[in-house]
Amino acid sequence: MIDYPELYLFNTMSRKKEKFIPQEPNKVSFYSCGQTVYQDIHVGNAKTYVAWDLLWRTLVTFGYDVMHIQNFTDVGHLTDDGDDGDDKIQTQAKSMNTDPMELVDSLIFEYHNSMDAINVHRPNISPRATSHISEMIQMVETLIDKGYAYEIKNDPGTFYYDTAKFAKYGELAKLNLEGQIKGSRKEVKIINQKRNPSDFALWIKAPENHIMKYISPKYGSKILGYPGWHLECSAMAQKYLGDTIDIHAGGVDHIPVHHTNEIAQSEAITNKQFANYWLHSEFITINGEKMSKSLNNYMSLNDLILKIGAGPTKLLLLQAHYRTQSDFSLDKAESIKIKYTRFIRSYHLGIQKLSQNSSKKVTNINSKLSNAFFDALADDLNSPLAISKINELTKSIDDLITDDGKLDTTKLNELTNTFELFFETLGIPYQKLDDDEIQLVNQILENREKYRQEKAWAKSDMLRDILEMNGYTINDTNKGHEWFKLH
Ligand code: AMP
Ligand code: ZN
Repeated sequence: MIDYPELYLFNTMSRKKEKFIPQEPNKVSFYSCGQTVYQDIHVGNAKTYVAWDLLWRTLVTFGYDVMHIQNFTDVGHLTDDGDDGDDKIQTQAKSMNTDPMELVDSLIFEYHNSMDAINVHRPNISPRATSHISEMIQMVETLIDKGYAYEIKNDPGTFYYDTAKFAKYGELAKLNLEGQIKGSRKEVKIINQKRNPSDFALWIKAPENHIMKYISPKYGSKILGYPGWHLECSAMAQKYLGDTIDIHAGGVDHIPVHHTNEIAQSEAITNKQFANYWLHSEFITINGEKMSKSLNNYMSLNDLILKIGAGPTKLLLLQAHYRTQSDFSLDKAESIKIKYTRFIRSYHLGIQKLSQNSSKKVTNINSKLSNAFFDALADDLNSPLAISKINELTKSIDDLITDDGKLDTTKLNELTNTFELFFETLGIPYQKLDDDEIQLVNQILENREKYRQEKAWAKSDMLRDILEMNGYTINDTNKGHEWFKLH
């Protein structure tokens, strides 16, 4: 039995690490802001989703029953992130001459495929904004009734949130509202009618040629419009998790606008605290600049998986702490692949030794290493420190199996069990080996050796090729050959 430590998380609201105490013992409600589905996800997006996967895995490992909701934004996210520009999905769909929902469907399919490949768990529910239009309309109407929303006079059917009415507005971001004069290009026609520079759109009347438009608050089918981006998360979080959620997570770019506005909407409606813990992940950069689609400096997640494999990709995305910026390069990716290969080699050689020694299996875990590993995760998900414990672990496996004395199979078994526990807790894809597979590969390698002795090179090469085509790496060393299988 592992005695898990208390979990501490850095809460952006207090700017402190706080002991995690959910509202209900052992139950966690968790909302993370999901992908706007208009393009393939890139390595930067993936880092953020991997951070929330790690949070989910840590909570589940520590014994919590977690309800995780992560939305897909399929309407309302404008090209400027605020109230300016066109809908990102509609713009992309037009350029591809396809229907926005066809684009959305195919990208959601792709999203799940990529996330499955790197072993990011699927949330309990992945709701889509377009399926929650009625909840959003209701929220706007409540905000109008409570005096938090107002209509733009020259633009009936467009409703803004009056941030001056919400005393705590900007608390999360520590915004200095005085002196903040936000006004973007397209907002110029609205800006004179906005009551405060920080006011934001709840619902926007759709222009004639807009594709994704719906009946509107207050007007029903008389006026068609679409929701502001922030509204969907308020609506979906409340629908599936209730008025107050334990943990709300997203990228750091969400602090000043998206999450600030979600809080204003939700708390004005419920008069309750929207979320108890706010977690934000830092960016992946390229040459110091944020990796992003708009800067066109991104690498797609699928390209990275193709290049270095799913296991190394997940390891790479966990290698930096979620609150630390990390610069991406192909050199770095290759060096992580070498590290992953080293880990798997040690583990597979250890498992093969155990199989050859056909000793009694034990289920023990190395408590010194596992205590240090779980302490690292309990300290605001310190994944780099946790990974350093895998380093120590695989070094111990290497020492044991290269020692010429009698093999301590119990100790080796304990270390391979601990390796599996660490990889599974972090969700790093890896290949397990069973006795049948080990026997089969060894048999093929023995045959290959026989052909080599006979100088039947074509046959021996063919056997090697077959193994390599099936994902095995074979190293011929001065002590014979060794093999392992990457993921
Ligand atoms: P977007 O598609 O821009 O809405 O981003 C989807 C998610 O990925 C959001 O939670 C962003 O905060 C996050 N994100 C975007 N770019 C990066 C990046 N370069 N590094 C880490 N996270 C990112
Ligand atoms: Zn959100």
